[in-house]
Amino acid sequence: MAASMASQAVVRALRETTSKHRLFDKFKCARLSSRRWLNLQEYQSKKLMQESGVTVQRFYVADTASQALEAAKRLEAKEIVLKAQILAGGRGKGLFDSGLKGGVHLTKDPSVVGELANKMLGFSLTTKQTPKEGVKVKTVMVAEAMDISRETYFAILMDRACNGPVMVGSPQGGVDIEEVAATTPELIFKEPIDIWEGVRDDQALRMAGNLGFKGPLESQAADQIKRLYDLFLKVDATQVEVNPLGETPEGQVVCFDAKINFDDNAEFRQKAVFAMDDMSESDPTETEAAKWDLKYIGLDGNIACFVNGAGLAMATCDIIDLHGGKPANFLDLGGGVKENQVYQAFKLLTADPKVEAILVNIFGGIVNCAIIANGITKACRELELKVPLVVRLEGTNVQEAKRILSESGLPITSASDLDDAAKKAVASIRK
Ligand code: GDP
Ligand code: MN
Repeated sequence: MAASMASQAVVRALRETTSKHRLFDKFKCARLSSRRWLNLQEYQSKKLMQESGVTVQRFYVADTASQALEAAKRLEAKEIVLKAQILAGGRGKGLFDSGLKGGVHLTKDPSVVGELANKMLGFSLTTKQTPKEGVKVKTVMVAEAMDISRETYFAILMDRACNGPVMVGSPQGGVDIEEVAATTPELIFKEPIDIWEGVRDDQALRMAGNLGFKGPLESQAADQIKRLYDLFLKVDATQVEVNPLGETPEGQVVCFDAKINFDDNAEFRQKAVFAMDDMSESDPTETEAAKWDLKYIGLDGNIACFVNGAGLAMATCDIIDLHGGKPANFLDLGGGVKENQVYQAFKLLTADPKVEAILVNIFGGIVNCAIIANGITKACRELELKVPLVVRLEGTNVQEAKRILSESGLPITSASDLDDAAKKAVASIRK
């Protein structure tokens, strides 16, 4: 019973940390904290691992096919592994829109690496963890392949339930760990770490044993685990995930894959790490919104939601849904809002061709409704708003705000409450 509850917590923790593209992650990363979490590509994570003495394969990075071919030759390896670099897992089983199957390819013939890279670079790779349309591959890793006799799973993550870091491991690695946790929870092992004490020798050895490493491999794996924990602390990670942590027939423990997430609050002391972030896989609208200190999430419908606060955003989406509409996005203004931010927010919302109506739903607690109203009227005039606009304002200085809106002479529909606002927004599209 206790074991199954623990593993449910692990599954939950993993769900929250593994796939970047799920909506819930987006809510969590972009909504509730002020910035998204930094993610690095596998090759960048492996560079950090190398610096901490963690065993990874020799590799080069290429962004053209000829570079990839060159790198493959330079490695002088028995076998080469070519890996598409995207910020999502499941690449091994992914599919490119070039027709190529698999984002991870092994070959004994270095001369084919160029052709393979040609079918990866510039093409989109779709995996279980990417959006349907996939993610465009701009970089590949060319590494020395090693034989793998066994694949295990190992991760260290910050876990709320443990009030600190926890090691999670399974002898059943390489595959979808959520699947393992769901079907064979007894094969998931958890080891909370005391942040003051660090990983004790007995803990590292127990985890190595639980992962199924035997004889000299057990102490080697324990050593890798401790090094991974040192790295976790050193770079202010929220997660270090190695899947697979494998063993070779020659008796080496190797990190074959790497995914590190970082604590954005540590940016000030992790300048070198954060400088590696190229933002190339971020949604351009989210990036633009972040510039103005706004939080934007794109959705599939046609009603733009302009709100303040994550809770109100979700409630607004739900009520629109309830009245038969679909949110196109939501944009969270946050607290200490300025008129110019309101203007920028409107600009972002109206630039989306999917948007057929805008619903403003602001509860002025810290926010002054009059500032919102001024921002709205200015934006409406300058951007020559073409879609219906429904506004529901409540709270601080709302009377003044209502006066500004009604005296503006602009075609703005006011709503008395959230329900009314959602109904009017949905109706404005049906007309
Ligand atoms: P992911 O699918 O995105 O998680 O990418 P991985 O880096 O985990 O690679 C997927 C799978 O490819 C691994 O689980 C391994 O089975 C296999 N693989 C990756 N690198 C090597 C290698 O050097 N040698 C061998 N034999 N298999 C590898
Ligand atoms: Mn993997």
